[in-house]
Amino acid sequence: MWEYAPAPESRDIANLKPNYRMFVDGQFVEGTGEPLKTVNPATEEVLAEVSTASKEDVDKAVKAARRAYDRTWSKMPGSERAKYIYRIARLIQERSRELAVLESLDNGKPIKESRDVDVPTAAAHFFYHAGWADKLSYAGYGPDPKPLGVAGQVIPWNFPLLMAAWKIAPALACGNTVVLKPAETTPLSALVLAEIIQQADLPPGVVNIIPGAGDIGATLVEHPDVNKVAFTGSTEVGKIIQRQLAGTSKKLTLELGGKAANVVFDDAPLDQAVEGIVNGIFFNQGHVCCAGSRLLVQESVADELLEKLRVRVSTLRVGDPLDKNTDVGAINSREQLTKIQELVESGEGEGASRWTSACPLPDKGFFFAPTVFSNVSQAMRIAREEIFGPVLSVLTFRTPDEAVAKANNTPYGLSAGVWTEKGSRILWMAQRMRAGVVWSNTFNRFDPTAPFGGYQESGFGREGGRTGLEAYLDV
Ligand code: NAP
Ligand code: MG
Repeated sequence: MWEYAPAPESRDIANLKPNYRMFVDGQFVEGTGEPLKTVNPATEEVLAEVSTASKEDVDKAVKAARRAYDRTWSKMPGSERAKYIYRIARLIQERSRELAVLESLDNGKPIKESRDVDVPTAAAHFFYHAGWADKLSYAGYGPDPKPLGVAGQVIPWNFPLLMAAWKIAPALACGNTVVLKPAETTPLSALVLAEIIQQADLPPGVVNIIPGAGDIGATLVEHPDVNKVAFTGSTEVGKIIQRQLAGTSKKLTLELGGKAANVVFDDAPLDQAVEGIVNGIFFNQGHVCCAGSRLLVQESVADELLEKLRVRVSTLRVGDPLDKNTDVGAINSREQLTKIQELVESGEGEGASRWTSACPLPDKGFFFAPTVFSNVSQAMRIAREEIFGPVLSVLTFRTPDEAVAKANNTPYGLSAGVWTEKGSRILWMAQRMRAGVVWSNTFNRFDPTAPFGGYQESGFGREGGRTGLEAYLDV
């Protein structure tokens, strides 16, 4: 094994400030909610104090968004809106190092991921949607599709900047204005995005960003003057929101949890599959709604594949998120770490075989070593529930029909993977697996041109691509 010298990125690049304020009506203002302290999960140190919105502030933000909608944004030609959105995309690129370091500090994800995935994909979402702003009449929703009005958006902590981009870019392209609530543990990159929005000179009120806890999310989604609600987070909260919105005219999209099957057939190139499995479950510490958390392996190659997998996973380096050599960073919060530990204990208790990488873990911070469970049966909690951590459950199958049956034996339906040399089998599987996204011979690929979203308890509605525009248009 290689010995790696530490290669830390400088945290000065993040331009961390001691205090952050919410962004309403084009200004950074002190919220009247209880301020929150955001923590670096890799060290448990407080990074900054962030002012939060009260219920009255939510109302102010929605009013600002409404004014901006009525007076400027909904009236502006698409070609003009596009210029602003392009500007945001370019400013994200210009400030990409700062955003990447800040994201890794606040969230705990490895710098190589924030630098190479989160930030460039966030910019790509703005570029892509800027392109749509003056072409909506060609999107297939009629000659002159209209925006909906004010969008209330609530996002989780696992991809803080990227989720903000997924939400804001299509809303703006379609002519809506936005009030967005970032997650409590990761508010910083959304507030730097607010700086970028200010720098891009967007008319005041077009985008408002209000940190706060879950109750502020609830106040936002039930505000009577919000026309569209977009939520990414847990299935539990998604259900609450769906109940809240029942009987109203608000349009709703929900992007919720998942328990994706990653299916490996005996003809698959196994070394390549191992890379895809590792990427599928250990990317972003497994804090990924579409993570390939259930590996289904054809029985005849299961032992060989598991052995290769353990060898490969043993080489993953867990530790300082700012180190460019780190593969797996910090678990986002103590709460999430406890949830992972509890589910892993349940797996041991129910009789699955646990293997955990012997990698050293830092003394401070929230970390969990990559773990693979074999001898997993479908009824076990680790096969059914979302762990949202670096923990893989391995099951086996004998025939393609059995693979499909097991893959679909889940209340979720967000994503799936299939590994095989046969093109016809890929299509056969993709037609039968009930998942919004099916990757073949790859995993966790994200592109703004491709619609993303779920079936069943993974939610409904699509984000990205032409299909994703529908959520922000009156069609
Ligand atoms: P969560 O509790 O549902 O939180 C998501 C967001 O909703 C946060 O901003 C949260 O605020 C807010 N919130 C909490 N209660 C609310 C309420 N009653 N009304 C409105 N907003 C409310 O999810 P989490 O446990 O933090 O995040 C992990 C979960 O998100 C996982 O289950 C994962 O599968 C799911 N997820 C899904 C996707 C997807 O694309 N489908 C993507 C990422 C994550 P606080 O931060 O203050 O709690
Ligand atoms: Mg934090």
